[in-house]
Amino acid sequence: MKEFDIAFPIQHVPTEAELRQAAGRALGVRPERVAEVRIVRRSLDARGEILYRYRVQAVAQGEQLEKYQLPAYKDVSGADPVIVVGSGPAGMFAALRLLMEGRRPVVLERGKDVHRRKTDIAAANQQQRINPESNYCFGEGGAGTFSDGKLYTRSTKRGDIREVLHQLVAFGAKESILVDAHPHIGSDALPRIVEGIRHCIENHGGEYHFDEKVVDLQPVSDGHQHGWKVLCAGGAVYEAPQVILATGHSSHDIYRLFASKGWPLEAKGFALGVRAEHPQSLINRIQYHSKFQPGMPAAEYALVEQVEGRGVFSFCMCPGGILVPSATDAGEVVLNGMSNSMRNSPWANAGIVCSVEPGDVPDFDRYGVFALLEFQHAVERAMFDFSGSLQAPAQRLVDFCRKKDSQGLPRTSYQPGAVNAPLYELLPPPVFERLRVAFAAFDRKMKGYYTNDALVLGTESRTSSPVRIVRDPETMSVPGLPGLYPCGEGAGYAGGIVSSALDGILVAAAAASVAPTQG
Ligand SMILES: Cc1cc2nc3c(=O)[nH]c(=O)nc-3n(C[C@H](O)[C@H](O)[C@H](O)COP(=O)(O)OP(=O)(O)OC[C@H]3O[C@@H](n4cnc5c(N)ncnc54)[C@H](O)[C@@H]3O)c2cc1C
Repeated sequence: MKEFDIAFPIQHVPTEAELRQAAGRALGVRPERVAEVRIVRRSLDARGEILYRYRVQAVAQGEQLEKYQLPAYKDVSGADPVIVVGSGPAGMFAALRLLMEGRRPVVLERGKDVHRRKTDIAAANQQQRINPESNYCFGEGGAGTFSDGKLYTRSTKRGDIREVLHQLVAFGAKESILVDAHPHIGSDALPRIVEGIRHCIENHGGEYHFDEKVVDLQPVSDGHQHGWKVLCAGGAVYEAPQVILATGHSSHDIYRLFASKGWPLEAKGFALGVRAEHPQSLINRIQYHSKFQPGMPAAEYALVEQVEGRGVFSFCMCPGGILVPSATDAGEVVLNGMSNSMRNSPWANAGIVCSVEPGDVPDFDRYGVFALLEFQHAVERAMFDFSGSLQAPAQRLVDFCRKKDSQGLPRTSYQPGAVNAPLYELLPPPVFERLRVAFAAFDRKMKGYYTNDALVLGTESRTSSPVRIVRDPETMSVPGLPGLYPCGEGAGYAGGIVSSALDGILVAAAAASVAPTQG
């Protein structure tokens, strides 16, 4: 097998014949003697002429390219159950892995199925009404359903990302996600995929229960068998030898439950700041060096700067995307970004956030392990208290950095709207001071980024969980609580769709490797 790189202008889709020609050259055989050729990676190169660079694998006659084979889902009707709390990427991929392992997933989800959830998402955008059980974070598919669906991760160490990507393709994602360097799905396609995953789980004997908010977890034992009783807000009780807890970073009640029982939690750093929204045309001009043409993908960016010992970085950049209200409760303003598969809105947005570590906010130390959680909430509340609604306090970018009030705001994609505000005062000073330094530095990396045509809005605060549920790295369960498996972003072991899915797979495999009677 030979692996080689080849580049074509961005608008040119390479033909089979062209790939075979190139493969023949790489293998040292005539094109007719090339048995198989396969693109394994595609990345955009805008440094000079705008090209797609392809990594290609090929074999000559007599050989075969290795094929990735997804493990099969088993019929698990009648098999021992594993309760999965939360149907986000961690919960869904844990449940799919349980099917492969021959265990029966019983998924409990506080929110609604994806169709009913859409009504609540619309209410947040149009009527500024947050349903605390069904919103951009809670409901079928979790926080990943109405998102950009970016599928990049740096956490390849955690597992085989192919298991995630191949399943997404099997449930309807474009095949290009298997090769794109920066794959994304888009929020127009995600609901269908999420629903397909549910149907697969149910068709193989698993269960899904919506509107089931887990409020208590009780270990049970009859001397031989250990397990868990899971109590829901509506009174339903479920029992299983094992529970996977994949409740996401906004399920603060689960952290409180752990604290009330004296179960182990630890503080963890996270990042907080603003969403910056630029005209996409400006980002295209900068990133494509004025060579952007219709048909090219909306340009992305990733920026990072160290300022006084803390990282300031772009987070969850959404090219051709929109801003959305991702609060989970009344009285808080939280922003995030999403896009559809075409990424064709006139805006580019990204969180520009500053990392905050335990010990950075001494005023909140009295809250112990919840210091950063309370700090996060205080900032979200300060934004709401200023606007009195889901409208986001906002300023033009340069004015923000110069602590100058803005004269009028540019249009924004954020449907609840932006309200002119001294955002520089509403943010905690150490965060604001680092952001202003970083924004100026970003302009040296992307000339034209630092402009008053861009809007900054508060606040981007749910970058990851500021609390971690302790788990044993060997057993993957909570020390002293066999059979209870914290999982995904909420447990503090992932950040993003793919890493959460990978963690779900890892945890499900660990849970399934334990005989049910051992708990
Ligand atoms: C608008 C938006 C856009 C995003 N865009 C991207 C992106 O493009 N790429 C990317 O990688 N990441 C993105 N993210 C982040 C990504 O969605 C999360 O990192 C990921 O969903 C975390 O997965 P998870 O399964 O650990 O948790 P979640 O997805 O948060 O899922 C947790 C689930 O648990 C349920 N739950 C919570 N508490 C309970 C309870 N007590 N009982 C029962 N159920 C409960 C919730 O309703 C939810 O469905 C985005 C997030 C948002 C909000």
